[in-house]
Amino acid sequence: MLSHPLAVARSTRSIALLLAALLLASLVGVATPGDAAAANRSTMDVVATYEARAKLFWSARRIEVWSRARVRNTSGHGIERLELNLVPARIGNMRKLKVSVDGDRVDARVAGQTVKVPLGRTVGDGDSVVLVTSYTATFRPGTSGHDFLFSSQNRVMSAMRWIPWVSRQVKYQVQGHGDPFVTPVSPLVEVTLDSDVPVRFATSGQQTSKVGNKRTFVARNVRDFNFTAARDYKVLSGWSNDRKVRIKVFTRTISASTTMTWTKRALARFSKKVGPYPYPTLVISESSGAYAMESPALVWIPARYQTARLPFILAHEIAHQWFFGVVGNDQTEDPFLDEAMAEFLTRDWFGFRASRCATKRLDLSMYEYTPGCYYEQIYVQGSKFLDTIRDDMGGGPFWSVVRAFWRDHKFGIATSKELLDAFLERAGNELLPRYRKRFPSLYSGCPCHGAG
Ligand SMILES: [Zn+2]
Repeated sequence: MLSHPLAVARSTRSIALLLAALLLASLVGVATPGDAAAANRSTMDVVATYEARAKLFWSARRIEVWSRARVRNTSGHGIERLELNLVPARIGNMRKLKVSVDGDRVDARVAGQTVKVPLGRTVGDGDSVVLVTSYTATFRPGTSGHDFLFSSQNRVMSAMRWIPWVSRQVKYQVQGHGDPFVTPVSPLVEVTLDSDVPVRFATSGQQTSKVGNKRTFVARNVRDFNFTAARDYKVLSGWSNDRKVRIKVFTRTISASTTMTWTKRALARFSKKVGPYPYPTLVISESSGAYAMESPALVWIPARYQTARLPFILAHEIAHQWFFGVVGNDQTEDPFLDEAMAEFLTRDWFGFRASRCATKRLDLSMYEYTPGCYYEQIYVQGSKFLDTIRDDMGGGPFWSVVRAFWRDHKFGIATSKELLDAFLERAGNELLPRYRKRFPSLYSGCPCHGAG
C-alpha cells in the first residue's frame, strides 16, 4: 500500500488519504522505510552475565548447550537487536537452535558465526533483556583451517566460543591465520559441564562444584569462556611464584613439567613488566591440534607440541592474557594491538629477528594479509616496530606508557591508535614519520591529536 506514495499524492484529497494510510500503518505497526532503519540497532556496549550448561556425548562428538545471558544495554541509545558470536554456528553443524527473549521465542537468524536476535521491542539505554539460547552441535573430526576451534581429535575435544556471546557480526576466517573475534568482557560467567562418560575439563574458570560427571565453574571479567576435555588428561597443579595464581596443566602427550616451569616464568615476567595477572587461575591445556590459542585464563597448546618449542609458544599465548584478555581489541580489523604486543613481550624475552616477508603496513584487517606472511608481518615486523619505539624512547618511559595504557584500558576494548598515541604523547613527533609509513590509515593527514 505504501510502495508508491508519491504517485497518489496529486491532490489534497489524495494527500489526506495518504496521511490517513500512514497513520493507520503506524497504528498497526507497519514500519515505513525510515522507521525500519532506525529500528534495527545493535550494540556491543552492554554489561552481560552468562549462565551456561552443556553436555558432551563423547563417542558421538556431540554437545548440547543451554545458555542464559542477562544483558543490560549501556550503549546510550535504544537497541532492537543483539548479535551473538557462536563458532559452532559456522563450523559445528549447529541444529535445533532456539532463542527466546524475556521468555518469548524469537526468530533468530544465523549468518556465518553470528546469531542475530531480534529483541521484539526497543530496549532502552540502561534497560535489560534476558536471552535464552539452546542448540546442538557436532565437533569437527579434524583441525585443518580454523576447524581446531571446535574439534575432536587426538582424543581431546576443544570448544572455543560455544557460549552465544554478545558481539558484532564478524566475518569468519576459513584460512589458518587470524582470530576472527571481538567480544566485550563479562563480569560473571557460570558454566556447568557434563559428559556421558567421565572426562576432565580444562576451562577458563575456577571449579566450584562437582556432582557425578558434572562440574561447575565460575569466571569473572572474561571476554570468553572456553574448554578442552579428555578422558585421560594428566593434571599437574602448582602456584605462581607469588602464590596468588593457581596453575593447572592438563596434558596427554606434551611435557607437563616444562609447561609448568615456563608458565610460572611467563606469569612472573609479564606481571612485573605490565601489571598483575588478574585471574585466580591459569590453565594450560593440550588441545585437539593445529594451533596454540589464547582464551581468558586458559591457553591451548596443540597435541604433540615439541618440548623445545614450548617456552616460546607459552610466552606468546600467556602474553595474550595481558593483550587480548585484559586489554581487548578488535582482532579482525585491528590485529596489531594484541598480536604485536604479545609477540613483543615474547621477543623482548627470547630475542627479535628479521622478518622473512616483505615490509608491509601494520594497520590492515587480518583478512588483508596472506596466510604465508600474516605471522611475519603482524607479529614479527609488528614486534620489531615496537622494539624500535622502545629503543628511541628508552626502556623506562616506554614501559611506563605500556603499564599506564594497560591500566587505563583494563577489561575494555582498545585500539592500536590509542596505544600509538600514548607513545606519541610521551615521545613527541619524532615517531610520526614511521607511524605514517606503517599506519597510513591512522596517521596520514596529521597533525595528529595527542602529539606533544
Ligand atoms: Zn597470538
